[in-house]
Amino acid sequence: MSVKRKNCLVFLSALLFSSLSLSSENKTILNIGDSRLIIYADLDAYDLGKAAIMGWVKKSARIVADYYGKFPVSEAGLVLDDYDGSGVRTGRAYGQPVLQIIVEIGNQVTQQQLTRDWILVHELIHLAFPDIPDQHHWLEEGLPTYIESIARVQAGDLDERFIWKGFMRGMPKGLPLAGDKGLDNTPTWGRTYWGGALFCLVADMEIRQQTRYKMGLQDAMRAVMESGLTLDKTATIDEVIEIADSHTGTTVMRDLYERMKDAPAHVNLNVMWDELGLIYDDETGVVNIDDSAPLSKIRQSILASKLTSSKS
Ligand SMILES: [Zn+2]
Repeated sequence: MSVKRKNCLVFLSALLFSSLSLSSENKTILNIGDSRLIIYADLDAYDLGKAAIMGWVKKSARIVADYYGKFPVSEAGLVLDDYDGSGVRTGRAYGQPVLQIIVEIGNQVTQQQLTRDWILVHELIHLAFPDIPDQHHWLEEGLPTYIESIARVQAGDLDERFIWKGFMRGMPKGLPLAGDKGLDNTPTWGRTYWGGALFCLVADMEIRQQTRYKMGLQDAMRAVMESGLTLDKTATIDEVIEIADSHTGTTVMRDLYERMKDAPAHVNLNVMWDELGLIYDDETGVVNIDDSAPLSKIRQSILASKLTSSKS
């Protein structure tokens, strides 16, 4: 969901109105490598019990730490705001006044809903990127919209056909419509979330092609995080592009941004899915995978876990 460092008042009011008192008895600390996630939650409020909720938090934090090579920040807070009902409803991430994520989760949430949840992973990914000016919000939201799915497949938490199906359904919502003025000037929901995610997919494919699979968007975003530009910091889009491109030794992010920022740059999705070896079966609603397709190796390298590849 949305992130804005300036919404301190929103943050404080969200905390004030959350049903949770931030007292110590509602505080649980989760260590992830050298980092700490401080969980503010009345864990007894959930029918499923403390272990299931903590299992979900641990899994989500592990998925993000493995994608970035470590948990993005040394310390952050996670407020679980419970309501009467089931499901994981919404989330927000804040960089100021403290690094904090608030997730609304029903006290009757089921194990299946936790297993399928994407919201917490999405919000944790926001921690790994700085606060950039509003007109570039599509990159702030495009990154978690794209990375959340990839990171969960890398972790073995999702089947790749499931995420490609989601992308094949979502990415068309990110394409420019009549009157579009480019990603920086068209702040619609579709262009913000899916337009941003499409930018990330095209950049990822291009980086992998130009570096012969040695680098990808994952490496570029790790470099941004390692530079210290996390959600509690502000930056310009030029700064993050410079770090990303100089780390991959390409000009992919710069070239794509220049092409997409203030013009309705079209992407032929049908050709792209074909070349990646993704075939959507209308009858079954299943995505079939063709490993003989020209860009199959790119698709495989996007989903390859860096954990396993570094071991092999
Ligand atoms: Zn978001």
